[in-house]
Amino acid sequence: MSFDSIGLRPELLRALRDAGYTVPTPVQAEAIPVILEGRDIVAGAQTGTGKTAAFTIPLLQRLWDTPNRQRPHARQVRALVLTPTRELAAQVEESVRRYGKYMPMSSTTVFGGVNMNPQVYALMRGVDILVATPGRLLDHVNQRTVDLSKVEILVLDEADRMLDMGFIKDIRTIISLIPANRQSLLFSATFSDDIKRLTDTLLKEPVLVEVARNNAESDLVTQSFLFSSNANKQDLLIHLLVQENIKQALIFVRTKHGADRLSVHLQRDGVSAVAIHGNLSQMQRMRALSDFKTGRVRILVATDIAARGLDIEQLPHVINYDLPHTPEDYIHRIGRTGRAGVTGEAISLVSSEERNVLYGIERLIKKRLEQRQAVGFTPAVPENFSNERQSGVSRQSKSRQKRQQSPFAFHPRETSRPGAQPAGNDSRNQKPAAQYQSADRGHASVSMPRKPKPLSSAPAHSSHAVEGSREQRRKVQFSQKGD
Ligand code: AMP
Repeated sequence: MSFDSIGLRPELLRALRDAGYTVPTPVQAEAIPVILEGRDIVAGAQTGTGKTAAFTIPLLQRLWDTPNRQRPHARQVRALVLTPTRELAAQVEESVRRYGKYMPMSSTTVFGGVNMNPQVYALMRGVDILVATPGRLLDHVNQRTVDLSKVEILVLDEADRMLDMGFIKDIRTIISLIPANRQSLLFSATFSDDIKRLTDTLLKEPVLVEVARNNAESDLVTQSFLFSSNANKQDLLIHLLVQENIKQALIFVRTKHGADRLSVHLQRDGVSAVAIHGNLSQMQRMRALSDFKTGRVRILVATDIAARGLDIEQLPHVINYDLPHTPEDYIHRIGRTGRAGVTGEAISLVSSEERNVLYGIERLIKKRLEQRQAVGFTPAVPENFSNERQSGVSRQSKSRQKRQQSPFAFHPRETSRPGAQPAGNDSRNQKPAAQYQSADRGHASVSMPRKPKPLSSAPAHSSHAVEGSREQRRKVQFSQKGD
């Protein structure tokens, strides 16, 4: 299939040629014709699959083709794209400009962490396409600097992450301000019950777009892991960077503090590194990202949320210095590499305490990660590792399971512990969450795999609270000078 055969306008085809795109990616081939028909869609696609163009291109065409098209009036918006993070908002708007360069339509972004005034001026003139994070958009709504009553198309990009970050209330408030006869497009890498509920209330007879195979399962990303004690991880990391001649890598850690600590440690060892996380100002985050993208620094140390949606061209390596809180985050992390047909490598350093997450990841992606060893390093392999891995549960969690089965046992709230998995709840990861069955066009309701809520309300998430909902941000402001 070519772009010409899906009925795109010449202005868009020209912009796509300029971008060097010759054939649509699977999600584009599925989604673009359906969106052009004016249907609602729910698409299972993560970053790296070409999802941004999958909604941006038809959105531009539909806005352009509207009969009696008029410039939006002051403060009005014709299409609204909601994204979880500032970086993703900026990237989406960049795509709007890129694909719409031969169609003079206006676009702008609004997100937190920067002065509101330039955003107010941009909104005052009215915009065709607004890309926004929910919290800052509601700030504008409250100050009456934006009017959502004329929105024709709504896009929820990375909807799963927006819910993880606690934006559900904000999203519902925003939707209540948008006309009901809009077209709605929802993109999500994974599907929880919360997403399913949102889909049921938000979309009208949506077409389910078949998920493109995610990067975790593709052959583009080589995945392996090394066992290491927590104490040895820093030395092992340096060893790998040198031994494997890693020229550039995005390194994931769980906490903001951990990101700062590791980047300082790397700098002390002569490796140029910079951290990116939610405690930095927007300017600092943009500088860190641009230094990494231009190759001025070799290592970008990131927390999960700060790195969400980052599109770094030809990133060869992702290193999980800490495993993420949930197996789904592993997929998001390694999706930073192996993008747009280029191969990549994902290496994880796994401590004995993290082995349950490792088993969870392997269940989710339905494949075993290759276990490696570094010369001169004694791997801290947990006792009984191969048996545990076979069953997918650690001895520690087996004994917890037994305790819970006892009729006299006290039942602690296991799910509030980051990384903890409810004992015996193996169905949780039986299926890659974003894989669903068919692109059954015209179906009135969407059937998605049931999956318990991600452990997003776990205490560890409070470390990302600055990027979370406004309520979360407010809480954080009591304890620290944030954002
Ligand atoms: P996304 O999933 O939207 O973050 O896109 C991932 C990367 O794929 C971006 O760098 C896009 O520029 C690139 N891309 C998107 N669509 C195509 C296409 N049809 N052909 C080649 N590259 C593409």
